[in-house]
Amino acid sequence: MSDTTRRGFLGAAATAAGLAAIPTAARADIGAVNKPDPLLDGEDLPTFRFALEESEGKVIGGNSAREATVKQLPISKGLAGVSMRLEPGGMRELHWHATAAEWAYVIEGRCRTTVIAPGGDSETNDFEPGDIWYFPRGHGHSIQALGDKLCHFVLVFDNGYFSEFGTFSVTDWIGHTPKSLLVKNLGLPEAVFAKFPKEEVYFARGKVPPEEPASLHQGKLRTSPDTHKFRMIAQEPNSTHKGGREWRVGQNRFPISKTITGVILELEPGGLRELHWHPNADEWQYIIRGKVDVTMFGSHGRHRIETLTKGDVGYIPTGYGHSVENKGEETARLLIAFNNGHYEAIDLSVWLASNPDYLLRDNFETTDAVVKELPKQRVFIASKDGPGGRGEPNPPR
Ligand code: MN
Ligand code: MN
Repeated sequence: MSDTTRRGFLGAAATAAGLAAIPTAARADIGAVNKPDPLLDGEDLPTFRFALEESEGKVIGGNSAREATVKQLPISKGLAGVSMRLEPGGMRELHWHATAAEWAYVIEGRCRTTVIAPGGDSETNDFEPGDIWYFPRGHGHSIQALGDKLCHFVLVFDNGYFSEFGTFSVTDWIGHTPKSLLVKNLGLPEAVFAKFPKEEVYFARGKVPPEEPASLHQGKLRTSPDTHKFRMIAQEPNSTHKGGREWRVGQNRFPISKTITGVILELEPGGLRELHWHPNADEWQYIIRGKVDVTMFGSHGRHRIETLTKGDVGYIPTGYGHSVENKGEETARLLIAFNNGHYEAIDLSVWLASNPDYLLRDNFETTDAVVKELPKQRVFIASKDGPGGRGEPNPPR
């Protein structure tokens, strides 16, 4: 038996020698996909909806954070999310995340981030609605509201077990380090540190920052060679249809975003993002506006429909079939994040069109006349009147 055959035959139980040849990251993927998941093995599919904006979260003054992790939504093992609001003068203090990268989309208001990379490069960026940021795992950062209005943004983390309330915050660290050590490290008298916060501040509150970013404490303004900011909605949608449109940004257009692809999907009333699945990523959804029905198919006849409205979170595991349909009266807007920098999807219309007619006829136990009417091109987004208006070949960007 050849090595290739043996590995294929044995699947995840490949020989130690075979596994050793696979890079660690890929090996972890194989384990994750091939291990049975008790949550997804039941007779019925578990819920994939969580009413994020109705949850209690953490509220300090006019600042708030509401999160969706595996604790709130057990199915969401691959991605977690937070809806955060900062009041004028509000700041999410300096912190880092040991176990997740952070991706964000600004919904309302303006904010400023600072971020440091391991090489010492730092960047300060200002954000408006429709802009996104990405901070690699472990890079230190802060977020400040700008101007006199509330700033609302949604954070997405590439790890469903990650809690925003378990971050490594600068006040928590300094507050629990011996004063004598701080004197030696930072050269200030002990009395100064005695007045620093003793516990994690999380949301700091201060003055509204100056409109122009100030020079850094070190006296220089260094720019990161790999920017953390991308103006997503300022670009043309990468796909426009009668029934809706999509903006999509992955590593191809935003190089630092190696572990997350972000999408804004707009559906007109009755619009349908057609049946499809993603071979390489879990999908995390947040409803910015409107009311949609999300369907999910999980083999063994298991099919579930959830109605998601403004402020709800949805989740589709890798490989599960799904669709999104606008059931409301207004244009629906969804924020979608995938835990992979490279976008992959297989859409039903394309799959069917990629087979000979005789095969489709026999598979569906139908006639040649019926098969002839099936779409020949990708539907992607159907309108309330159906797949008519299709025809864009949708070159991937
Ligand atoms: Mn953060
Ligand atoms: Mn999808």
